[in-house]
Amino acid sequence: TALVALEGAGKRYGNIIALRDVTMDVHAGQVTCVLGDNGAGKSTLIKIIAGLHQHSDGVMRINGEETVFDSPRDALGAGIATVYQDLAVVPLMPVWRNFFLGSELTVGWGPFARLDVTAMKRIAKEELFEMGIDLRDVDQPIGTLSGGERQCVAIARAVYFGAKVLILDEPTAALGVKQSGVVLRYIMQAKNRGLGVVFITHNPHHAFPVGDRFMVLKRGRSIGNHVKDEISIDD
Ligand code: ADP
Ligand code: ADP
Repeated sequence: TALVALEGAGKRYGNIIALRDVTMDVHAGQVTCVLGDNGAGKSTLIKIIAGLHQHSDGVMRINGEETVFDSPRDALGAGIATVYQDLAVVPLMPVWRNFFLGSELTVGWGPFARLDVTAMKRIAKEELFEMGIDLRDVDQPIGTLSGGERQCVAIARAVYFGAKVLILDEPTAALGVKQSGVVLRYIMQAKNRGLGVVFITHNPHHAFPVGDRFMVLKRGRSIGNHVKDEISIDD
């Protein structure tokens, strides 16, 4: 069963049709790439899955069950975490604080309530190291890290707090070649850990190496839907 499935989903804002008849699947251990230019409907698609907007037509299924999220909190509760391009982290806060930021939303602190600062710093450092980022100092403001590393902290945080679906909104858009590579490697790590990743990007060169499924949006319509294994090359 797909973690997330859209079946003929549509979204209207008044008389503007932002999405129409969109069908897509997100599976565990796979990356679903959503490609498209500005205005194609990528943000609208994210907002529906993340509980910020509701679809006007069609069906959304979460683990096979027809679902409409009333709020972002509902989506988080269902294990759907979104890393937005700009809002991922608070620049002046130390790395470790950013790592635990928002955890009260997902886990109500719960088991984490008893963690002291030393433990939180250790966990942040270990989790980042595990995913391939070696920070000597998690006390430094996260604003001192590169853009790629900042995105990675936000992704590692979602993975650590048990997200099943990770939605990444243009995580490489503002990054150079090297930093994009760091984030792409991180996406592979999340995928290998069994998460279903939705990777929004306008850059096919970033989508192809990591993607398992590809959807191209144009003016709210899906104009291409490919699954990697199904792409055949004549020999
Ligand atoms: P993308 O993220 O691919 O740039 P969007 O989902 O932001 O595309 O936008 C798709 C279309 O829907 C655009 O024409 C945009 O102007 C319109 N749109 C998006 N959000 C709203 C809104 N809240 N109200 C009205 N129109 C919107
Ligand atoms: P993004 O860069 O993520 O695609 P935009 O800059 O297109 O986002 O949109 C920013 C916000 O404005 C979003 O909440 C979007 O839904 C809203 N929006 C976009 N287009 C319109 C529109 N034509 N009318 C009203 N709101 C819009």
